[in-house]
Parts: sequence; C-alpha cells; structure tokens
Amino acid sequence: MKIKKKIPLIDQHDKNGFWGGKFGGNFIPETLKKPVDDLTKLFAKIRKDKNFIKKRDYYFKNYVGAPTPFIKLNNLTNYLGGAQIWAKVVSEANGGAHKIYNATVHALICKKAGKKYVIGDTGAGYAGKMLSMAAKKFDLKCKIFMGAKDIKRQKPNCDAMRKNGAEIVPVYSGSQTLVDAVSECMRYWVSNCDTTHMCVGSTVGPNIFVKICGWSTAQISRELKIQLKSEFNAIPKKLKLINCIGGGSSAYGFWSEFIDYNKKQIELIGVEAGGPKKSKLHAAPLSKGAKLGILHGSASYVCQNNEGQINETESISAGLDYPGVSPIHCFLKDAGRARYTYASDEEALNAYKLVTELESISPSLEPAHAFAEAIKIAPKLSKDTIIICNSCGDSYKDRDILKKRLDKHIK
Ligand SMILES: *Cc1c(COP(=O)(O)O)cnc(C)c1O
Repeated sequence: MKIKKKIPLIDQHDKNGFWGGKFGGNFIPETLKKPVDDLTKLFAKIRKDKNFIKKRDYYFKNYVGAPTPFIKLNNLTNYLGGAQIWAKVVSEANGGAHKIYNATVHALICKKAGKKYVIGDTGAGYAGKMLSMAAKKFDLKCKIFMGAKDIKRQKPNCDAMRKNGAEIVPVYSGSQTLVDAVSECMRYWVSNCDTTHMCVGSTVGPNIFVKICGWSTAQISRELKIQLKSEFNAIPKKLKLINCIGGGSSAYGFWSEFIDYNKKQIELIGVEAGGPKKSKLHAAPLSKGAKLGILHGSASYVCQNNEGQINETESISAGLDYPGVSPIHCFLKDAGRARYTYASDEEALNAYKLVTELESISPSLEPAHAFAEAIKIAPKLSKDTIIICNSCGDSYKDRDILKKRLDKHIK
C-alpha cells in the first residue's frame, strides 16, 4: 500500500472510490446514487474553476478569518525542557474550530448548484452549528438532523443553531444519536435532492464527502507551510505535527501539504480518544486495533463487536466520540506514513490544565488529546525538534464539563 507523491491524498482512490483498495467506497442505497454522482461531477468541475477558487479564498480570508495564528508556546517549552512546542491556533477561526472551513465550502457548492436548502447531520452539535452559521451567511435555508438523545445533552449548540435560523429535525429511531441522524439525513436527501444540498461534517461518509471535506480543511496546512517558511526560512529538519482524530478532518487539513515529506523529517502523529482510564470503552479504532467495517457509507476501521455491531464509544471530548474514522487515515496508517496513538480522558484533562496554566490559549478537550501526546514526548526530544499541535477548537464549549472535572474557573 503505497502513497503516490504530488497527488493530493484525497484523490488517491481507485475508480470505485477506495483508498488502498479497501478503505472508503460508496456503500449507499441505489436511490442515493444519482445525487452522489451529480455532486461528484459538480465538485470535479468547480475545483478547477478559477472563479470558484477565488471566491473560496475570499471567504476563507474574510469570513473564516484565515490564516489563523501560528505561535510558540515558550512557557510550556521551558517547563518540559526538550523539543520546542508550537501551536497552530485554528480555534481562532470563526465559530471557534476548523469545521467552519468545510461548512463554508459546502454552502458555496450549494449556491453554485442553484439550491436553496442545505442539510447536515450532527452528533455533538458542532458540525450543525457551523453549517447553520454558513447557511445564515450565504442566505440558505438549513435543516440539521440530530438524534433526540443528543438534542437533550447538547443544548448550547442547539440554541446556537436555532439562533442562526436553522431547523433542528429530531431523530427518534434506533439509539437516537448520530448514527441514526446520518441515516435520516440521507433519506431526506434522496427525496429532496433537486432543491437540497447535503453536507457531511468530517472526512467520512461516501467518497465524495471525504474529498470535499479534505479539500476544504487542507487550507490549514497551506497556511502553516507559509508560516513555517516565514518563521524558520525553510521547513524545519525535525518536525512533528500532532493532531487529535475524531473523523479526521482537522488532521488531514493540518497534514495534507506535508504528506510527501520523508517521515524522518516530518512525523505525522494522530491522537485518538482512549476514553476513561478505568473503562473498556473508547473511540480509538486506529490505535486500539479495531477491524475493518462499514459505517455511514464507507469502509474504515470501526469499533465493533465480533458480530459487526457498532460498539458504544466513550470519550470526554464529544468531537472525538465516534466509532469510525476517515478512510484516508486508515490508508495513512496502513501505508506507515502516520503514527496513531491515543490519550485517555485523564491525560487530556491534565494536558488542558498544564497548557492553560502556562499559556494564554485555551484548547478544547479534543486538541487537549494532541497536547497530551506532545507533553509525553517533548522532554525526550532535542531542542531543535519542532512540535506543532493543532489547537483546533476552543474550550468555551467544554466549560461545564471542565468546571465539573477540574473545579476551576475557565477563562
Ligand atoms: C468535530 C471536532 C473534532 C473531530 O473531528 P475531526 O474531523 O477529527 O477534526 C475535533 N476537534 C474539534 C474542536 C471538533 O469540533
């Protein structure tokens, strides 16, 4: 399983949509084939369209707020006494996380397709919140499908979606969570695809949604490449890029420009949610040896039991609490280009605590998993090693759980 150079990873799939011959694909009902094919054709056209790219970049700059800052964490570096630790502060983007890049591109595609409605699914609510923001900005009507159980436990994000004018459609089937919301959203799309565009919030789902999302978040590594050259005059000789992995869209976006480099020069490290130390439950299909399965229209490593039933997952960070993972990360793992590991809830909380005590950034619990790995490895590394963590979300959304777990006033 080999990675080709000079071709974006999102395009390195075979004609059936599989990366490495087995990850991804299009496991969709026959009725979804037409809207998926139409979207695939439209996207192939617009990604080569100079005017569309110009528009995308205009809104990345003037709506998303790109480029987000790249800063050195001097205090954390001095405290750990090894490698230099830097952060790409993607949480400074509009809405407080990277999901706005994907939502913005989907809103632009929806407009380009001449559709007035955009729909999406959401679990913890961030994908829904960001899509509702983009819909409001671009004057689109927005419906968000959400499990009834999730609606109850994610009230602040639901309030935000409604404030942005989105309609939340509660899903009462099955476990009443994300898995069911995705199915319901796809079902709705089949019957309404003439007027409605569908957005998937991470690099997961049928092939085309993996591609669109990866194409959108790739902006993060384009920004970083320019920032690295400006800071160090060249790409550093010993670089480690650490990112948390839920579906894998922030990690792909953070890494895409750097995949062609030798792994001795640039190590890519993905950190999954190991869950509570005392629990057997986790959301770490790549690093805890999950088997290949099918979830939400594509094949990937999936947390499942011996019968192939999707396992319940558990993580302190809602954004990482997902049983599957992007097919492009499965491919990167099997090709040996990226290293995947996990951090427990407790390690993420400790990392959050240390980072916020020493520095003035406040990463959410998802990137706290990435910082946990940085804290683990930095002391053993040389001072000319540059570790960069993608601080992809802001902790404001986690204030209740942080207060409960750390009993600490959050800035
Ligand atoms: C949604 C989310 C994630 C997980 O999704 P990826 O696709 O893996 O990026 C991670 N961090 C934050 C802040 C999120 O909102």
